[in-house]
Amino acid sequence: MTRIAFKARLYVPDNLAMGMSIIPNRNQQHYLASVMRLVTGDIVALFNGVDGEWRAAIQSIGRRSCSLDVIAQTRPQQASPDLWLLFAPVKKARLDFIAQKASEMGASVIWPTRTDFCQVTRVNDDRLTANAIEAAEQTERLDIAEIRDFAPLNDVLAAVPEDRLLVWCDEASATRGDRNAVSVFAAHPKPESAAILIGPEGGFSENERRILDRRENCLKVSLGPRILRADTAAIAALTCFQSVYGDWPDIT
Ligand code: SAH
Repeated sequence: MTRIAFKARLYVPDNLAMGMSIIPNRNQQHYLASVMRLVTGDIVALFNGVDGEWRAAIQSIGRRSCSLDVIAQTRPQQASPDLWLLFAPVKKARLDFIAQKASEMGASVIWPTRTDFCQVTRVNDDRLTANAIEAAEQTERLDIAEIRDFAPLNDVLAAVPEDRLLVWCDEASATRGDRNAVSVFAAHPKPESAAILIGPEGGFSENERRILDRRENCLKVSLGPRILRADTAAIAALTCFQSVYGDWPDIT
């Protein structure tokens, strides 16, 4: 299917259907009017995470007001791969980075997880959601990654169903030089659903390692011989996973 290049692509919380009139929020108005310098009649894309993508025409645009007329659907709703990212959160800018990049890589759930050596005590969900929305707008996704509340590892693991493959990114395997993530994935049947787990800067505790080692349907993987920072590790793991099992087209 040919993709239409739009001058702007906006997430809106409204229902979307033909003939509707949408008022973008103030930031979006500023973006359309002052950053993109769009004028009446220009066409933008709208999506709301449920109704697919719609073409809309700017009906009026000024510094303080703007209205968009929904014309037609350009793409039906499509889900991202069923891939969760569980990670011990890091400090602000790198946390934003993880939410943005994980969204770009197609994670469907982003779940900050408190592990024994995690340094962060609070996570701002709204900020993570804003990052996930911005990434979806930019990356042409039709859904928004769901941000779950910061929760202890035990609770998070208990909420991962047994049939969801757990991919444990293990820094200890990295130093031993085995369990290359791509080889491990290639040797394992494609899972229906998965969750990637990334630890904190301090790594996993002995107790956590014991719990993870005992877990069924868990693949322990290495992301190469270097110890990566948690944000790099999250993106590297998502990339390896998506390239083997994900929604990328085959290289044939
Ligand atoms: N302080 C720890 C490193 C933690 S890095 C140490 O020196 O051992 C933060 C997290 O990123 C790890 O818990 C792991 O989940 C992931 N990670 C980083 N590098 C990795 C690698 N090469 N292979 C697998 N996981 C890695």
